[in-house]
Amino acid sequence: MSDSNPEVSWLRSRGYRLTPQRLAILDVLRFANGHLTPSKIYQQVVEDLPGLTEATVYRTLNFLAEQGLVLVAHLGRGQLVYEIAGHDHHHLICKECGDMKEIDHLEIKALYDQFLEDTGYQINTIHTTFFGLCPDCVANSSK
Ligand SMILES: [Zn+2]
Ligand SMILES: [Zn+2]
Repeated sequence: MSDSNPEVSWLRSRGYRLTPQRLAILDVLRFANGHLTPSKIYQQVVEDLPGLTEATVYRTLNFLAEQGLVLVAHLGRGQLVYEIAGHDHHHLICKECGDMKEIDHLEIKALYDQFLEDTGYQINTIHTTFFGLCPDCVANSSK
């Protein structure tokens, strides 16, 4: 099954080794619905790969992120989360309660076009986090 997924073909076509750790972590992320913390990923992968260390999970995630196969995001409070790359999006995070919302990249694409026009910079950051207050916390803070 793993062999037919696009990330695996991508690695193979560039001559990277398909180590069991790389395959297992990609599988976990592909079937996760959204973001996972490295320790969550470790807990799931170690079931199939006893002997795996958390350090290896971190190294593998770094590698996959460098290859653009995995996206990494800061969710505040030093927490990093990972997810499979594929759809271009950003995150809105409430600083008060930690609630998170995903926005499609198309919603802010016009801003990137404006940057290009104004500065000549072609921005390719597609996984950004915007911090603020969610509607509930806005409502609570105005009481
Ligand atoms: Zn994301
Ligand atoms: Zn909130």
